[in-house]
Amino acid sequence: LERDAVMRKKFNVHVSGSDIPSPLQDFTELRTRFRCKSYLLRNIAELGFSEPTPIQRQAIPVLLSGRECFACAPTGSGKTLSFVCPILIKLKRASKDGIRAVILCPTKELAAQTTRECRKLTRGSKFRTKLMNKALLRNPDLSKLHGDILISTPLRLRLAIKKRKMDLSKVEYLVLDESDKLFELGLLKQIDSIVKACSNPSIIRSLFSATLPDFVEDLARTIMHDAVRVIVGRKNT
Ligand code: ADP
Ligand code: MG
Repeated sequence: LERDAVMRKKFNVHVSGSDIPSPLQDFTELRTRFRCKSYLLRNIAELGFSEPTPIQRQAIPVLLSGRECFACAPTGSGKTLSFVCPILIKLKRASKDGIRAVILCPTKELAAQTTRECRKLTRGSKFRTKLMNKALLRNPDLSKLHGDILISTPLRLRLAIKKRKMDLSKVEYLVLDESDKLFELGLLKQIDSIVKACSNPSIIRSLFSATLPDFVEDLARTIMHDAVRVIVGRKNT
């Protein structure tokens, strides 16, 4: 659509892939187009976010359309909301059936920060976000862990799978955040075993990063199907 192209140009958003959903005009479209619940719109407003950032405008509708996505946008451009918001809308409500979304972060600090962001966005809902920290890792049986969203480093999550009976078979969304760093840190083996443990065939995977070196893009393509690529600004700056 011409209108989509104009908006992408205005926000310096570059896309590739087939049938790419229209970018968001504003946050109220989350309700009109995607039936977002009021708690989430309220939290977005309370955080002082008046309009979506460029990456949010395009990545949110892509994920909400059930498409896999790899997204590249500068640090500080609001990538967290780009993946948390679609997860919350798609999961609809909290459940006791086990973890349904996993967010992988390269470091413990980033995992803790993402957990805090996620909890701000779930205020007023029953959603529970779990951080895979030392205390949780001491639990000998994580197979019945209560929570909707789990945030972890690859190392800790792999330990939880191998030694703590962590069950990821119900996971519907897997996010690799700061994927350039994840891959640079040589966490391929861990990531691979987590990808395998998330065995639900209809899982939606996404990858977010500040840069998109070719090797990251090549790895991304090995784990995603028919993904939409969204780049804000330029690929490697
Ligand atoms: P990134 O992951 O791209 O580095 P973050 O998701 O950590 O960026 O967001 C950076 C900062 O911008 C955070 O403080 C976040 O609360 C804020 N932020 C996110 N989305 C918006 C928005 N739509 N409007 C204003 N600020 C936002
Ligand atoms: Mg980030």
